[in-house]
Order: sequence, then C-alpha cells, then structure tokens
Amino acid sequence: MVCQKCNFQNEENTKFCKNCGTELTNNSKKNMRNGFGITGFVISLISIFAFSAFTDNSNENAPPLIGVIVFAAMGVIFSCLGFLQKNKAKWQAISGLTISGVILITTIIGRCLDLF
Ligand SMILES: [Zn+2]
Repeated sequence: MVCQKCNFQNEENTKFCKNCGTELTNNSKKNMRNGFGITGFVISLISIFAFSAFTDNSNENAPPLIGVIVFAAMGVIFSCLGFLQKNKAKWQAISGLTISGVILITTIIGRCLDLF
C-alpha cells in the first residue's frame, strides 16, 4: 500500500506508514477479489472449450449440446452475481458475462437454425 503523503511503499494491510507515520486509508477496495466474478470467468472459459469440442465433428468425446448450454448459463449467472458485488473488481465478471453470453446465444441460435 502506497502512502498518500510520502509515497513510501508499505506492506499490504499496514495501518500506518512505516516512513512518516501517516494513517493509511484503504482505497484498494476496488481490487478486492470477486469470488463470483472469478468463478463466472473460469466457467465461461470452460464453456469455450466445451463449445469448441462440441462443434468439432471429429471429436468423438464431444460433450452434448446441453453441457455447453449448462456451462454457458452458469457462466452468465455467476458473472452477473459477480457484477452485482459492491466494491469489488468487476473485470472478471464483465469478461465472463461477455464470453458466456456470446457462447450461450451462439449455441441457442445455432441449434434453432439447425447448424449443429
Ligand atoms: Zn508516509
């Protein structure tokens, strides 16, 4: 944590600056880990693999369509929960929502158009 007064680099979770003694305010809340967001992001990455395996006709172990939809839907749900967390990093949730949303829509539209 950087001291706002003297810019001394203190260890994280230190209450007072080791250099000048100024009380350190916690302004790094936005960087707090967002468990739901990270989970949503990871699931959305899994859904990419599931989707690419599903659309690969030469893959005999391809997952069923419902598997792709379940992973993508879970990615959307967890990412939304992550996005709703207050004072936490949002980039994983936003990335996860984008990725899993695109895969979910692509899968459903592709299914409706009989592409798969
Ligand atoms: Zn200081």
